[in-house]
Formats: sequence, C-alpha cells, structure tokens
Amino acid sequence: MMRAIIFDNKIIEYELNRKAKKNINIYINPNSTLKVSAPRWALISEIEKVLYEKEKWILKNLEKQKHIDKNIKTNSFENNSKIWFKGKEYNLFFEESKKNFVFLGEDQIITFTKNKDDKEYAKNVLMKWIKNVATNDFKNAIDCYRDEMVKKYKIPEYELQIRSMKTRWGTCTPSKNKITLNLSLIYAPKEELEYVALHELTHFLEIRHNKHFYGIMEEYMPDYKARRTLLNKEYGQICKD
Ligand SMILES: [Zn+2]
Repeated sequence: MMRAIIFDNKIIEYELNRKAKKNINIYINPNSTLKVSAPRWALISEIEKVLYEKEKWILKNLEKQKHIDKNIKTNSFENNSKIWFKGKEYNLFFEESKKNFVFLGEDQIITFTKNKDDKEYAKNVLMKWIKNVATNDFKNAIDCYRDEMVKKYKIPEYELQIRSMKTRWGTCTPSKNKITLNLSLIYAPKEELEYVALHELTHFLEIRHNKHFYGIMEEYMPDYKARRTLLNKEYGQICKD
C-alpha cells in the first residue's frame, strides 16, 4: 500500500508492507523510492514516528540513490533515443526499407526494417544484429586470453552461450566446458567485456573466488579491479561473478 509522509515540506511517498515481523524496517529501492515494512499491529502514527526519527538518513540516501541511478547507462531502444554500444553513445533510429539491415555509422545506428511501425519487429531486427556482433566480439575477447593462458594452464575448448541475464555478467560451468556471457556486455567498453571473459576462463582453473583465483586474474589483467568497478558502476548490474 502506498502512503506519503511530509519531511521538511517535501512529500515523500513510501510503499508500506505489513509483515509478521516485530520491527519496523526502512529500505531504499534501487529506483530511489522508499519501502517500509512493519508489523501487522503497528499504528500508522508509530510507523511515522520511526520515519521522522530517520528523516535525515532517508533523505540523504534517497538523494544518493538518485545519483547512482543517473550514472547507470541503459538502452531504451526507442526511435530517436540514445543507445550505448561497445561503450560508446550513438543515436538510434528506425527507418523503413525493402530489406532488413542495420547501419552502424560514426555516431548513429539506423535499423532499416520492412515495417518500422511494428516496433517489436523492428526491435527484433536490431537485437538479432546486436547478438551477431556480440557473438563475434565475445568470442574474440575470450580467445585472446585463452591463447595466452594455454601456454601455462590447461584450459579446455569451450562452448559459448550468450543470453540476457538480470543479475550476472557471466557464468562458467567447468563440467560442461561452457561459458555463458550476458548479452548486455556488448553495451560496455571492450576492456570491461575482457574482464568478464577472463573471469569466466579463470573459473576453469579455480571454481571459488579465492586468492588462487584472483592471483590468476592479476597475472593476465593487473588492472582487473578497476575494470570490474567501472563495469558495475556504469552498466548497473550487481554482479559478483
Ligand atoms: Zn565468478
């Protein structure tokens, strides 16, 4: 249930959830909204008392979260919108044509389709092209590090799978010699894609994220931490893998 409270002349909306719990808890959502969970028996006046006590903390953190949101680069795939692709910003357009194809220009990506008003169809044409580019780029990024690593370590021939994932940049299944990468990596710069590629390759040698694992990462990518930080900060997915 949505409610509102007034802090310092500002109306702050919050989502109130009743739970079988003893305490009143306050959360800031990733989209910088406020969420409160409270015991079923708690009076609104009691809940608001807690909110007023935490006013400073709430306002500070709502503001902080807004700032984080702004830094996250996302694509809407709408006509005449900005699109991030390989770490660069382009203008995206959809145009009508007899043949389906995608034109990659200096600062624009134009998707030509037989029916540009059919938004879903047009987006599918674009996504198919994006996936093709990703397949090529992801394979190159992995192979580039694999070629180096096989000089010293046993790295199997691998199978690459690309798909959209909500919470992970990549996974490695050593028992199946399989690496899965998140399609969204194609929106990030090459250096950040390479970080995930090496990370997943390293899992063929060490399953856990321990000293041994990070030692190998460092051997091939001394700046891996900086790349990881940038990837998660700019492209927004929380991903420890
Ligand atoms: Zn991992």
